[in-house]
Amino acid sequence: MSELHLLSTQQLITGLQDKQFSSAELTEHYIKRIDALDSKINSFITHTSETARAQAQAADEMRAQGDKRPLLGVPMAHKDIFCTQGVLTTCGSKMLHNFISPYDATIVTNIDKAGMISLGKLNMDEFAMGSDNESSYYGAVHNPWNLERVPGGSSGGSAAAVASGFVPVATASDTGGSIRQPASFCGLTGIKPTYGRVSRFGMIAYASSLDQAGSLGRSAMDCAYLLQPMIGHDPRDATSIKHDMPDYVQDLNHAVATAGDSAKPLEGLRIGVAKEYFSKGLDAEVEQAVRAALKQYEALGATIVEVNITDPEITLATYYMLAPAEASSNLSRFDGVRFGYRCENPTDLIDLYTRSRSEGFGPEVQRRILTGTYALSAGYFDAYYTKAQKVRRLIVQDFEDAFVNCDVIASPTAPTAAYKLAEDLDPATMYLGDVYTIGVNLAGLPALSQPVGLTSNGLPIGLQLIGQYWQESKLLSTAHLFQQHTDHHLQHSTIAKETV
Ligand code: GLN
Repeated sequence: MSELHLLSTQQLITGLQDKQFSSAELTEHYIKRIDALDSKINSFITHTSETARAQAQAADEMRAQGDKRPLLGVPMAHKDIFCTQGVLTTCGSKMLHNFISPYDATIVTNIDKAGMISLGKLNMDEFAMGSDNESSYYGAVHNPWNLERVPGGSSGGSAAAVASGFVPVATASDTGGSIRQPASFCGLTGIKPTYGRVSRFGMIAYASSLDQAGSLGRSAMDCAYLLQPMIGHDPRDATSIKHDMPDYVQDLNHAVATAGDSAKPLEGLRIGVAKEYFSKGLDAEVEQAVRAALKQYEALGATIVEVNITDPEITLATYYMLAPAEASSNLSRFDGVRFGYRCENPTDLIDLYTRSRSEGFGPEVQRRILTGTYALSAGYFDAYYTKAQKVRRLIVQDFEDAFVNCDVIASPTAPTAAYKLAEDLDPATMYLGDVYTIGVNLAGLPALSQPVGLTSNGLPIGLQLIGQYWQESKLLSTAHLFQQHTDHHLQHSTIAKETV
């Protein structure tokens, strides 16, 4: 039983179905690990162990009575950006240190309905702004592969919890890379779906036109399992889109069945590679591992074709204009009156607003509110915001042109592996770490990150696959077929290897 946390979601489902273990035992196993080891990682902000135990017991009873929902009784945890009724929802901020949500996010409801058990709420950069999880009011998260390194961000708690073997899968959100980059830093697979695929209702907004929820797991199949209950049209989110509903797990199994025992299961797949994604600033070891993985893809039958995409530095500038602009508008609701933190003894209304916001928001959030407000202000709006929107349209066009010649586009997920905690990067340097991931959000495309090896000092490296609109199945099955023939995704972090 000591190795339960190293099992895949598929193995957990089979184990529950075959009564090798109960959901109560499984849940206890994870809670024990969290209690023993999370003091080293700091991945959880809130634990819901007691309700999880009760839910697990109920799940076992339902299964005994013939309930066939596959995910019934499988544990997971939520990024603390998703509203959970009756449970603290902080978004990593002091501003929401006492916010008990009165309702559930749609994805929380859907995952509940699938029968999964939530073990709690996971740490993150404050309001999802950051790439290293160091802007959280609840402290930095440590990378389970090397405790002196960052786990990536903003979904650092989600990635670290999965990579530590505290939960098999976790929810996360991605506005500019926050699922893919932590997946890359923690040796996981993570997928950001097409914009509009997953409801944003109850997901605290950072930049509404870019935000999208998705899943993190050790493999593409694990991600497929958790993503399935998350997707679908939601009338409560005006940007959620009605579209055909795929069955991801079935699609992955179908891809494997179709490939049979062919030595070239990816025959016919055209992978676009853009020189713009191998730009200056790319770490040599990261480049080497990504190029080696592309060779493995070729050996499995894929063909590499050259494509062009927008210069990532232009994309980066566009994102860091638009995302803060939207954030400054979204975060204006936190005024010290309606939600969360309120300063002590305000002298008048302006003092109440000013001090509540100055004391409640951390420096990175304040920086973005300031730049965003500036970009939106009269006199500067056209020069900054409108111009960035026009560039955004060109970025979309460049992706559309690239996809004429290929089925997926591959790139490094991030220019480096996980860097040291407390390196105190200046903001502009930290933003540079997002160069390869943000274009996808500006275009609304789906993309995943998968592990493709380790650096010489044992840190995970990720490869990003970008797909055409609505083609999550294509991305997941491409990565799944790769993972059927390679073992990068089966390497475990130091913490995951610890037994308790
Ligand atoms: N690192 C990026 C930022 O700070 C992306 C964050 C995200 O995807 N939530 O904006």
